Amino acid sequence: MNKIIVAIDGYSSCGKSTIAKALAKKAGYKYVDTGAMYRAVGLWLIQHAAEAMPDNQICESYLQEHIDELCISFALQPDGTQHTTLNGTDVEAQIRTLEVGNMASRVSAIGFVRRAMVAQQQAMGAEGGIVMDGRDIGTVVFPNAELKLFLTASPQIRAERRYKELIDKGETPNFEEVLADVNDRDYRDTHRAESPLRQAEDAVVVDNSYLTREEQMVEVERIFNERLNG
Ligand code: C5P
Repeated sequence: MNKIIVAIDGYSSCGKSTIAKALAKKAGYKYVDTGAMYRAVGLWLIQHAAEAMPDNQICESYLQEHIDELCISFALQPDGTQHTTLNGTDVEAQIRTLEVGNMASRVSAIGFVRRAMVAQQQAMGAEGGIVMDGRDIGTVVFPNAELKLFLTASPQIRAERRYKELIDKGETPNFEEVLADVNDRDYRDTHRAESPLRQAEDAVVVDNSYLTREEQMVEVERIFNERLNG
């Protein structure tokens, strides 16, 4: 059967990866979390802060010199989940903190970082049969994707979800800070000069503010099957 490319874009914390993983599993497709790739770059910067971030400012020339040395991939786990690896080390837990998320948002605004990640993402999806989520998948990485979904939910609801996730991970977040972080990331994602987050003209919008995961999955599967069957 024809294997298509599914591009899923949307704001931070609106459940892109949950729905992308579930759809990939159902369809027997590969899943690529492109946010994890920017997070891995952010983690690398934090790990090399002395040289890469003097005065907490990203030293772009240092990063550019080393960007091709960052080998980011996804390792399939026995339970079927994927863990992000950076130069062979499993960094899945480390990249999911607020600190790394913020750094990811900063590095993802740098042109040469995006070009390096986009080239890797296009290679991963070259044969189709892939569900990829991010901010620029339907607009830049795969502008010809057969199916583009744009997920949205209100900032308040996304902050509530993110807050709960952090609590579940044992962190002690402050809700107002999490909400401010969601708003800051939205602003940066939509206002940066390089590949700002925007809805592709041919994307199908799914607002999941008031949908359960199950309801959303039913809707997304319906759209996917419709597209697959022409
Ligand atoms: O989706 P996630 O929150 O893991 O992404 C981390 C950061 O990476 C986001 O804040 C976003 O700025 C950036 N990103 C991006 N382009 C993508 C995926 C993520 O700029 N395709």
